[in-house]
Amino acid sequence: MVRSGDGHVVDEEKAVPLLRKAYDLGINYFDTAYFYCGGLSEVALGKAINGIRDRVYVSSKFPYWYKDEKAEYRKILEEQLKRLDTDYIDFYHFHGLNASGYTDAALKNGYIDEANKAKSERLIRHISFSFHDKPEAMKFLVDTGNFETLLCQYNFLDRSNEESISYARQKGIGVVVMGPVAGGGSPDVPEAAKKAGIEFRNTSELALRFVLSNPYVDCAISGMSDMRMLEENVLTASRPDSALSGSEAAALRDLLNEYRRLAELYCTGCDYCKPCPQGVNIPFIFSQMNNYRIYGLKDYARGEYARIGAENGIEGEKADKCIECGICETRCPQKIEIMKQLKECAGALG
Ligand code: SF4
Ligand code: SF4
Repeated sequence: MVRSGDGHVVDEEKAVPLLRKAYDLGINYFDTAYFYCGGLSEVALGKAINGIRDRVYVSSKFPYWYKDEKAEYRKILEEQLKRLDTDYIDFYHFHGLNASGYTDAALKNGYIDEANKAKSERLIRHISFSFHDKPEAMKFLVDTGNFETLLCQYNFLDRSNEESISYARQKGIGVVVMGPVAGGGSPDVPEAAKKAGIEFRNTSELALRFVLSNPYVDCAISGMSDMRMLEENVLTASRPDSALSGSEAAALRDLLNEYRRLAELYCTGCDYCKPCPQGVNIPFIFSQMNNYRIYGLKDYARGEYARIGAENGIEGEKADKCIECGICETRCPQKIEIMKQLKECAGALG
């Protein structure tokens, strides 16, 4: 067991063999970041890829918001190379980049110039960004022409990035998806899949096959904490029908949309209720409440809710900041009782 200066713990005796086993089973893309596990994640990955470095892709991330000195880019990159015990990082992401972060930090602090310099010196092989902003912001970042790959959330319950993913891919950007397996506790998802005539063993398998059926997705990364999860995911990805067929994926999409439409809280995410004077991010909160209530994804929804207002998380404020001014309810075309619903959200997700 190794402990970082800030209290994070990594059990290397479990992590390193798990990573190595992943390689043995055919996985060749490994993702980490400067801040994961207080830096210990990169150290463990470095140990796992010892001897096989030229046969795997290493992805890591630069915390562009952490400092605002141009020299920090190279300093942090060199620290990461040391931790990873390697001479280069294949995919080096601006961690959680959004539109304002691009303009106000990545460009302004000269980090984009530094990234190109590091690439010309072969210290990094591809300039990338990971992403949690609105889909339009993804298109903006793609159109800057400064990036070669991106990493974003996408799964059958959160398809908000679907259109911008296809946009990016058609502009020649490699698309890597995180969170492909959006929990497994939902009663409706298996029901929808059965109705659509899809044969599957469990919801995780179904979720992964849904993501792999998107022709614009190049790679899916999923956090795995034990051998069982690893073997299950490898088994799924190795099947001849690892991706759902186009008609299966479309049928599943339609049925899940229908469930959502029938839900008590039918928020379309139109954003007309914004801006809230208190900054409450109403559509995002309602989307998580639907994940919680309709799909039974309680931990997932709570985790996403916790990211509201967090550093490098989701913009805006949580439900408890509502002062019941009522403005939003006059704007909502779905006539949702927003104030009442927000109270329930605060109780369930907070
Ligand atoms: S009622 Fe609450 S959520 Fe709606 S606009 Fe007012 S403060 Fe914001
Ligand atoms: S206006 Fe209504 S439907 Fe639209 S995002 Fe806001 S709460 Fe949802």
